Amino acid sequence: MRKRYRPEHRALYNHPAWQPLRKAVFLRDDYTCQWPGCGRSLIGKGNAPNAPVAHHKRDHKGDLKLFLDRENIMATCKECHDGDIQRATHRGYIAGHDENGRPIDPDHPWNRSPA
Ligand SMILES: [Zn+2]
Repeated sequence: MRKRYRPEHRALYNHPAWQPLRKAVFLRDDYTCQWPGCGRSLIGKGNAPNAPVAHHKRDHKGDLKLFLDRENIMATCKECHDGDIQRATHRGYIAGHDENGRPIDPDHPWNRSPA
């Protein structure tokens, strides 16, 4: 699965400061996935599940300052990035259903009490 960026976001990834910054983050984080409970070594290449991905903790939404803020970036493996993080940050709840078809996330709207 390939993440699609809006055109103005894609330009940020071509920023000359991005590649060195990304590298610095991986070195700082010791090429280890910082996602809670993972801790996998980021030694994969390309689209491997253990390939390193620089994850923005706060969605930069095209903001260059936030995009290039070292403290806003953490090293994660591709699997965590594409799975947990995307679901948790972009939809606000965890995707998935139990065997009865109920969402597994207690915060999912279907599991909240009617107002
Ligand atoms: Zn991970």
